[in-house]
This record gives sequence, C-alpha cells and structure tokens, in this order.
Amino acid sequence: MLFQCDVNVREVRRQRMIGSEEFIPSTVWIKKENNYYLCLKNSIYPNGKTYSISLVKMDPIFFSLLKSGRIAFEFRKPRDLLSLEFKSKRMAYLLYRTMQDITDGKNVIIDKNQNPDALHANNAVIDNFDLNANEFKGVDSFDNRILNMKCLSTLVLEDCNSLVLPEEIGHLPIKSLNISGSEMPTSQHAQDIYWNWTSKPTISGTLTTLKMDTIRLMKLPFEILYLKNLQTLSLNNNALAYLPHFIGELKNIKNLFAADNMLPYIPLCSSLIHLTEMDVIHNRFYCKEPRDHLVTYKESIKEPTDFKSLKHIAFFKLMDNFPQLKRQDISRPLWEYFNYVGRCSKCKQWTLPDYGETTSISFMPTIPKLNMSKYLDGLTYQIMYCTNTKDCEAHKRRFS
Ligand SMILES: [Zn+2]
Repeated sequence: MLFQCDVNVREVRRQRMIGSEEFIPSTVWIKKENNYYLCLKNSIYPNGKTYSISLVKMDPIFFSLLKSGRIAFEFRKPRDLLSLEFKSKRMAYLLYRTMQDITDGKNVIIDKNQNPDALHANNAVIDNFDLNANEFKGVDSFDNRILNMKCLSTLVLEDCNSLVLPEEIGHLPIKSLNISGSEMPTSQHAQDIYWNWTSKPTISGTLTTLKMDTIRLMKLPFEILYLKNLQTLSLNNNALAYLPHFIGELKNIKNLFAADNMLPYIPLCSSLIHLTEMDVIHNRFYCKEPRDHLVTYKESIKEPTDFKSLKHIAFFKLMDNFPQLKRQDISRPLWEYFNYVGRCSKCKQWTLPDYGETTSISFMPTIPKLNMSKYLDGLTYQIMYCTNTKDCEAHKRRFS
C-alpha cells in the first residue's frame, strides 16, 4: 500500500535534531525483501530513502499523535526522526498498524505490485457514474446520484469530509458499507438522524459488513441492531470506552474488530464468544481498576421515582419487541438506556443497572483468529444479573 503524506526527516545527533523543519509532500511505502523496509520518496530524496523496520524505535509517545493524523518514527540507523502528517487519519492508522504488526513479529503481507508509479491509477476518482454498477467508491462527500444505483452492493465512502448518509441509502441492497476515516457531522440534528438508514427493511436484511474505523466514534449506536445479518463489524481506532451489551443481539456476527479503543472488558454474550475472528489489541484490558460504565451509571442513580420506573417498563417493552424505529421516534430520555441495558446471565431477561449487578471474569476465548496483547492471560468479560433473585427465579420459571 502506498501512503501519501507530508514528511519531515531530521537527523538525531545525541539529543539534538539537525535539519530543516519543513514538511515535504512524499510517498511512503513498505517493501519486503529479506526484511521489511519503510521507503520514502520526495523532492529531497528523488531516488528514494530506505529504512529497515527492524531498526525502528516504536515510541508510544509518538503514537499519541495518531488521532490527529500524525506519526513519528525514530530509526537507529541511520539515526533519523521521520515525522509524517496525513490528510487521511485512516491512512495514518493503516501505516501505524502495519508498522506495529511488523515490529510485533507478525507476518504482514505486502502487495508486491505496488510502486510509486502506480499511485496515479490508485488515486483515480471514479467519476463516470454507471447506474448499473454494483460497486461505488466515493471521495470527499456523499453523491446523491448513488441513490439511483439500484444494484449497488459495495459502497466505500472513506475519508469524506462531514459525511451525511441519507436515509434513502437504506433502500439499496448494500452488502458492504465502509465509512472509515470519514468525518461525522457535528450538529446535534445531523447526529440524531445519522443512523436512520439502518431502519429500512432492504439494507437491514442485506448488510453483512460495516466498517467504521477511525471515525472518532464514542458510542456504538443502537441502530446497529437493525442490521440483523451483520457478520463483520469493524470499529478499529475509535474512542469507544465500552461495548454495550446489546451488541450480543447480533446473532450472525463472525468478525469483530475493535483494536485501538479504550475497552476495559467485553460484554459476555454467546455471540461474542463464538466469533471466527476478533481483533482487540491496544485496549485497556490490562487496567487493574477499570472504569466500569455500568457501575458509574449505577452510582449516579438517585432514588427511583414512579415516573422513572414507567420509563424503564416502556424501555424493556421496546427491547423485547424491537421495532425498527428511527431514533427520533423513540422518546429521547430512553436513548441513553441502550448504553446500559443488558440481559441477566441467569434468566436472560433485559435488565438495567437499576435492577442488576455486574461482575467480571477473565478467560481466553476459543476464537480461531484472535489478536490481543501477548502480555495478557485472557480477556475480561463483563456479566450482568438481576439483583432480586425472586424476580429472576420468577422469570426463569415463566420462560422454562
Ligand atoms: Zn435474572
């Protein structure tokens, strides 16, 4: 893969850095011969400059810049500090992950056909609309002509500025949607209606792959649940502090990618234990005292009022029936409950922390392809159960 970015190369001599501070538009790529190499080409190095990746210092401080689309690599020989600035945060993340995987000793497959001369074709914009095409790759923003592509099955909208997905895309039989690297709208209204497309019967039946890497996602939208046939969900490099328990309702999920977030645990649901592939590297499973979002919610609960109980009853009814409603059709005070609702591990009824307890266990799941920190013995799973055993028993009897 080729990366276009602005690069500054400075020589490190003892603790000092020598050279211009200027960033030069450059092409960067990784090649594999006997080892992996990071290659750079720009107006200063027209013949290219090559660094052995085995000599890179992966300094975590440099990676804290990543969320703003910047990376820095320091090499031991030649002793250079490379600073890279990307327009696309997604590409910055891709390069960082590739470098990290190589230094971790993983076998990274590098496309041999890549070379900087191929760049032009790679970046070509598909602008001649073919209404019968089944694949579309967009740039910059959503183009409303997409809505007329009735056979569309793959829609790629990477690195778009302030991407708004119109509700009508839900009428297209899309199987794979990729919005990685795109900017989410900032206005409250645009955010409220952002996921409305998921409520349409067509796409909720056809979509099997949803990629949302590097979009600064802070919470998983509950509308994901409308996508009943979802098999691959990619949430890498976001700002997720937890995965809500409702994710366990995705019964067809096979591949879950949630690397580079802030997850301290995974909700214990059978669908997440029987995955084919999971990537949860670079999260917060090592935290000794993780911030448990369910406990934090519970601590903030004041005495329940009748009004609040009514809201809870309405919410549990909604969860049991789960009509494909747009977010605005559900009363706003109920929205936040989606983040805290989960099934009791004993009676399998929906519960909220108001009526439940949580606990956690650690174990190594038997997932064939699992990418996690090699320093961990297992993953931490979070479990919910009813506080009131009488209610729980009653539920069990009623449903057994
Ligand atoms: Zn229960």
